Amino acid sequence: MILDSLLGLFSMDMGIDLGTCNTLVCVRGQGIVLNEPSVVAVKKGTNRVLKNGTAVGLMAKEMLGKTPGSISAIRPMKDGVIADFDITEAMLSYFIRKVHARRRSILPVKPRVVIAIPSGITAVEKRAVLNSAERAGARRVYLVDEPMACGIGAGLPITEPTASMVVDIGGGTTEVAIMSLADISVCESLRVAGDDFDEAIVSHMRRTYNLMIGDPTAEKIKIEIGSASPLEGELTMEVRGRDMISGLPRKTIITSEEIREALKEPVGAIIDAVTSTLEKAEPELAADLVDNGITLAGGGALLRGMDTVLSNATGLKVRVADDPLTCVARGTAVYLENLEIWKDTMESDEDEF
Ligand code: ADP
Ligand code: MG
Repeated sequence: MILDSLLGLFSMDMGIDLGTCNTLVCVRGQGIVLNEPSVVAVKKGTNRVLKNGTAVGLMAKEMLGKTPGSISAIRPMKDGVIADFDITEAMLSYFIRKVHARRRSILPVKPRVVIAIPSGITAVEKRAVLNSAERAGARRVYLVDEPMACGIGAGLPITEPTASMVVDIGGGTTEVAIMSLADISVCESLRVAGDDFDEAIVSHMRRTYNLMIGDPTAEKIKIEIGSASPLEGELTMEVRGRDMISGLPRKTIITSEEIREALKEPVGAIIDAVTSTLEKAEPELAADLVDNGITLAGGGALLRGMDTVLSNATGLKVRVADDPLTCVARGTAVYLENLEIWKDTMESDEDEF
């Protein structure tokens, strides 16, 4: 125990937000040191990660949809669950080693690692994350629930006897949780999030314009003109893709109104998850939320008007957290700072699942 604390002074302890779209790593005292897409390039039809240094993260994401025949770019956490254990392990290991290699300390002490995981993850998946992090060189691994880390990162008073509610709209999953006294009271992990917005846009373009577009283009449309509620000035955008009938490249102009219509279904599913979580809340916690409101985080929180539609549906105040894409990572940094005090209350590789 004491040895562990002493080693803590020398090791580069890390907090990791293992997201379905982006993985962020922060180091105690240094803030966020890595922010890369959760993408891995593998040899097609196998689990073999490419060995040429372009295999994980930013470089691998650039390959999505553009890979030559022999390579495929995979998002191993795509739906918020670990779709492929080996590839997830390779990814986690790459990120941990990359951060660890940056600083050679006098003492080669292995780091302790705090990892935020979706609340819907199974015991088998938890074990896989723990084992992967250990094999990647962690001395000790602690798991924290993503909504808790998110709430802490967003500056909510989650340890106090009052309710805090976060809606974290990521790529593959939306996590909705009501917390108080450092515990989750009710939560829902929904498999509808930013990726589904992109898919809805792809199918709208196909149905309405006979135009095939890839996911990266759909994401661009979403970020540039996407919205969940009417805009003061509606927007337009030129989109390029492949005509389904002639098979040739073509462009067309689209409007923010039609994209809002296309996004209605996934946005509606998120609204339903939020209202059904509120219905399950203890009356006293529900009462707190009248004053405390709801905090939005994750990349999906940046969709224009997401706060407005949620506020209209619930009658509560809704605010978007500052820097919503980094809330979870910044929350894990707070866990790192308090590791000596909190570690006995956290799930770790010493526990049995
Ligand atoms: P995860 O935690 O699952 O890795 P993130 O919180 O990193 O997910 O969010 C990624 C999602 O946010 C992606 O679907 C991305 O397209 C979306 N996103 C990022 N920026 C914006 C934006 N400005 N408007 C709408 N969606 C956005
Ligand atoms: Mg996330």
